[in-house]
Amino acid sequence: MNYNSTRDNSRKVSGAEAIARGIAPDGGLYVPETLPKLSLGEIEKLAGHSYPDLAFVITKLFLPEFTDEEVYEYTKSAYGANFDDKRVAPLVCVDGDKLYSLELWHGPTSAFKDMALQYMPKLLTASLEKSGETRTVCILVATSGDTGKAALEGYRDVDGTRIIVFYPKNGVSDVQALQMVTQEGANVSVCAIEGNFDDAQNGVKELFADNFLRDELERKGVILSSANSINWGRLLPQIVYYFYAYLQLFDAESAGFGSEIDFAVPTGNFGNILAGYIAREMGLPIRKLICASNANKVLADFFATGTYDKRRELVLTNSPSMDILISSNLERLLYLASGRDDTLIKGYMSQLSKSGKYTIDENLRAKLATVFSSGYADDAASAETIRAVWERWKYLADPHTAVALNVASSSGELEVPTVVISTASPYKFASAVLAALGDESISDGLGKLSRLSELTGVSIPKPLAELAGKQLRFDDSVSADKMREYVLSVNS
Ligand SMILES: *Cc1c(COP(=O)(O)O)cnc(C)c1O
Repeated sequence: MNYNSTRDNSRKVSGAEAIARGIAPDGGLYVPETLPKLSLGEIEKLAGHSYPDLAFVITKLFLPEFTDEEVYEYTKSAYGANFDDKRVAPLVCVDGDKLYSLELWHGPTSAFKDMALQYMPKLLTASLEKSGETRTVCILVATSGDTGKAALEGYRDVDGTRIIVFYPKNGVSDVQALQMVTQEGANVSVCAIEGNFDDAQNGVKELFADNFLRDELERKGVILSSANSINWGRLLPQIVYYFYAYLQLFDAESAGFGSEIDFAVPTGNFGNILAGYIAREMGLPIRKLICASNANKVLADFFATGTYDKRRELVLTNSPSMDILISSNLERLLYLASGRDDTLIKGYMSQLSKSGKYTIDENLRAKLATVFSSGYADDAASAETIRAVWERWKYLADPHTAVALNVASSSGELEVPTVVISTASPYKFASAVLAALGDESISDGLGKLSRLSELTGVSIPKPLAELAGKQLRFDDSVSADKMREYVLSVNS
């Protein structure tokens, strides 16, 4: 199977190359040339598969140049004892009826980024090897919290790699900062940036474009790579859990097998929900994908009007992992839904970078409307949902999950079973969750974890409970213009 660039159909690379390169040289994103299709009968046969077995079957379809043994080894080690639930991604009924939560936060960092980042490092290192690369790969990450920690866990002690994570000094939650500065592993570095997330992110972008740095590293046998969600290797593992949710909802014996369901997804960079769209294109019976935004509702506005307009102020919310104005993976959706019209996509993306907005044509808009619905919930609405869902059904949701719960239930009675994708443990955002429940008695970051557990009886995920006893390993902090020196010192 070859991969095309969303901005040039004549460009063809293998899966390994797409993963090794991350982004196409024309600035486009890699998309498989064709999407494999599964019949209902074939999907039914997957019922009862464990998560690693299902991940093997689904992802292997996209990776012909990897052997069965290789892929199976990756999925077995990616989804094992590192998750605190044997099902890996358990489906929980929230309301005793049609509303479900697919919990994607049982991995080592308590957020859904683990679903991809426990798998991707294996794909990336093997892809580099297959494309003849022998140098050490240095992964650079700028994070607003979840990606950094998940990437550190995914790449720790992976042979041939080194990882450096930059986070904004005052821009992540107490729990998130502690998770990162106590990271274990011989090949990891964590550094605070004196500035906000944009400073960290722009700094990393400049490092990737820095010729001096590239030459210096080259002399030391090091190349740079990234772990963000424009890489196909991060998207691919996410297709699996849509199938897994469906197969938990309807097992092979169940009368409902084959009927359609909805998914509601708390969305930022559009990676998660795009994986749902691909699962639907592959034949999974999905009726609607509900795109849920927080107060940064660029996507909700886009689906409502057909115009993507990033010209607005970024709002800092209680669901920081969705505080994004440019949802990169939307480009892949437009490409697929337009029938792979690379010229059209190239035009939209050039308008976006020149004028900050673009409007899609009516055909494309009508096509998207058959699959997507959308909505948004601001901090107040998300907090109200956390409180109401807890009081009514004793289900504890984090602020990101609450955004999707809110949007999913906003149009009244559910017509079909609806699976909300739950992207973080409520304990990762204990402060906002406690405030939503009306309890502000504790001010200390880690103290909030025990308080939330005391109040709700829900247990704290082990990696978060153990944070208090962890040794502080990193207290580096630099200004954004010193990031290059930092990278060079780590690679000296
Ligand atoms: C990354 C993240 C999201 C957004 O996912 P996208 O794939 O960027 O749309 C939502 N919730 C949490 C907790 C996240 O970490």
